[in-house]
Amino acid sequence: MLNVVLFGPPGAGKGTQSERLIEKYGLVHLSTGDVFRANIKGETELGTLAKSYMDKGQLVPDEVTINMLRSEVLKHPESKGFIFDGFPRTNAQATALDNFLSELNTTIRVMLALEVEENELMQRLLKRAEVSGRADDANPEIIKNRIAVYNNETAPVKSFYQAQNKFVSIDGIGSIDDITARLFSAIDAI
Ligand code: AMP
Repeated sequence: MLNVVLFGPPGAGKGTQSERLIEKYGLVHLSTGDVFRANIKGETELGTLAKSYMDKGQLVPDEVTINMLRSEVLKHPESKGFIFDGFPRTNAQATALDNFLSELNTTIRVMLALEVEENELMQRLLKRAEVSGRADDANPEIIKNRIAVYNNETAPVKSFYQAQNKFVSIDGIGSIDDITARLFSAIDAI
C-alpha cells in the first residue's frame, strides 16, 4: 500500500494537492477536517463536539480524532493506499497511526511536508474564506490561533517521521501545477 501523510500548516494547499494525488495514484483521501465538517453538517454528536474546538481554531481531542480516523480507514479495506490530510496533528496521533497501520500489516511510506511562510498562509486563508464559507478561515484571530497551534503542537510531528527517514520537505510556494509536479517526483523517487 502507498500510504502518504500530506503535511503542512493551514492554507499550505493540502486539500488542493490531495485531489491531484488521489487521481494519479488511485488513493483514498482521508481529511480529518472534511470528516468533522461533514459531521457538523449532519448535526451528529461528533459534529457538535468537533465544532466547539474548530470554531476556536483548537485541535479536537486526540482520542476522538484517532477513533474517527481508525473507523474511516476500516471503511476502505481494498484501498491501494491512503492520503492522510490534516492527520496526524500531534505526536500521540502519529504513534496511534503507526500502531493501527501495523495491525493492518502496512505502514506510512512518506511524509510530504508543504512548506509555506506565515504571511502567505494568512493571505491564502482570508482569500479562501470568500469561497469556502468556513468560519475558521474568515477571522484573522482564529487563523493566527490555528497557525500557533500548528507551530506548537503539529510541527513537532515532522521529527517523528524524520526519525524514521520518511520525511520529505516540499516547497509549497509557486503555481498549483508546479507544486503538484514536486509532489509527484517526490513520490516517484521513493
Ligand atoms: P483542516 O480542515 O485540516 O484545516 O482542519 C480544520 C479543523 O478541524 C482544525 O483547526 C481542527 O480544529 C480540526 N481538526 C482537523 N484535523 C484534526 C486532527 N488531526 N486533530 C485535531 N483536530 C483536527
